[in-house]
Amino acid sequence: MAASAVRVICTTLLIEKSPQALPLGAACIASAVKNCSELAGAVDVSLKAFCLEDEEFPNERNAATKYIAEKLIEYAGGTESSGNAIFCFSCFVWNISLLEASAKKLREKGFVCIAGGPEITAHPSFYKGFDYTVSGEGEISVPQLISQIIGKSEKSDKVIISPIPDLSLIHSPYLGGIIDPSEYEGALWELARGCPYKCAYCYESKGQKTVRMFPMERIKAELDLFAKKKVPQVFVLDPTYNVNKKRAAELLKLIASKTPDTFYYFEARAELIDRELAREFTRIPCALQIGLQSANVDVLRLVNRPFDKKKFCHGLSILNEEGVTFGLDLIYGLPGETFGSFRDGIDFAISQYPNNLEIFCLSVLPGTDLFDRADGLGLIYEKEPPYHVIKTKELSVDDMKRAEKLSKACTCFYNSGRAVPWFNSVCRLLKFKPSKIFELFYEKYTDFCQQLSSQCGHENHEAIEKIQLDFLRELCRSKNMQRYYPALEDIVKFYGAISRTTDTGKSETLSLNYDAEYVASDYASDIRYFVENLRPKKCRIQTFMNKSGVDFRYIK
Ligand code: SF4
Repeated sequence: MAASAVRVICTTLLIEKSPQALPLGAACIASAVKNCSELAGAVDVSLKAFCLEDEEFPNERNAATKYIAEKLIEYAGGTESSGNAIFCFSCFVWNISLLEASAKKLREKGFVCIAGGPEITAHPSFYKGFDYTVSGEGEISVPQLISQIIGKSEKSDKVIISPIPDLSLIHSPYLGGIIDPSEYEGALWELARGCPYKCAYCYESKGQKTVRMFPMERIKAELDLFAKKKVPQVFVLDPTYNVNKKRAAELLKLIASKTPDTFYYFEARAELIDRELAREFTRIPCALQIGLQSANVDVLRLVNRPFDKKKFCHGLSILNEEGVTFGLDLIYGLPGETFGSFRDGIDFAISQYPNNLEIFCLSVLPGTDLFDRADGLGLIYEKEPPYHVIKTKELSVDDMKRAEKLSKACTCFYNSGRAVPWFNSVCRLLKFKPSKIFELFYEKYTDFCQQLSSQCGHENHEAIEKIQLDFLRELCRSKNMQRYYPALEDIVKFYGAISRTTDTGKSETLSLNYDAEYVASDYASDIRYFVENLRPKKCRIQTFMNKSGVDFRYIK
């Protein structure tokens, strides 16, 4: 670094330290600045991310902004001259308020602060706490802006609309050593930018309708790096991975050959799944997340989201038949959605056997098509991040709270409770819809549902399983169906133990009321038939891991 080099610090604030929260946006900007030939020798760029989970990160807002500002000055080498450092902030809905307040403190000391990211892109003129705001992908504009600031030659506008970069010309922050996936136990992996769809609530709603792909040479080199670093998991950033089936299949083959042991998470479109592609997904350890958002075609039409229910179900049935794990997303608070149609959405989603069902509150994000139409659609929402819907024409404040309760109960009972192997059978047996079971569960275990808002690890699963069993015993009793409980208990315990052994590799011992072969068989999908046609036969089993996965053996 030249003695007079200006320090450029790209920064952000993360919610948690996980591969999904990795500071990729800030890293991309750091990489662009580092590789800008005009700035060679003139800047010393680095990436410094803060995390709410850091032990020393203060809880109180004023202390937190002071902490960020002081740390950034420290990273910049002290306070000898504010002209020797420029700070670039990567802003999202959840961090904009703290980052803007920190930038104000830095500006009081004379430092230059630039902001970009989705929240700035949405409304670049709104945030006045920064010297410059850059809307859009910043790889071209930010290095140019820094060059102008350092050169003090040209005056730049305070609000900059960034041109769209050619993805074949921008540098990978992983390959350039800006960010090390080993530090985050995984990677966020950008394969493409843009989306062919225009969902009204999404930042892409006003973007270009084209998908730009990163070149294959970069993708291959990043895969080689992931293999070298033994990256355990990768979250693929491509909103519709399978929009180009040929490329999706080609990449899956490449992933299988280079990183066969890494677990991949994809976002995919169910309507575009066919058997050939589903089989390609089975080549690697992976899970797909699929946006359903609502099961009501009219609601989806209001937010510009095409939905072909028949094709959607067909795609999911292929995934189920081929054994590809997938989860579904739903949103509450969409215009036109009643509480009844939202519940139908939950019931429909669960009937497709998703591994997990994520249910979110709609955010009316500035800069989206929905934001422009919100008043006409009758959406009342928070005017500050996270811009959650408070009520709609069809959903009262009370309905929104009831929807949130169903979301929490689903997270706790279904997702964290790993209920996919047996939940639909239980619903059929007890003649309850899934949403009704979630409602009853929330009523009985309110505190538990509130505390447990995210998917848990295996340590918590046993505790959830105990609660699930207590609850199911009570439901059987309330329906005068106690005779079915021993079989139901076996099925819940059996699949719970299998899933924990899959996670941990550790054996578990179980006592069952019925022969384990029956419990593990297709008979268990119809609990009424199971109980009415099979005799109880107590047994003890032990789960274990072998080369082909988890199995069990009988023990005395
Ligand atoms: S929500 Fe997903 S599919 Fe819809 S426009 Fe946004 S990125 Fe594309």
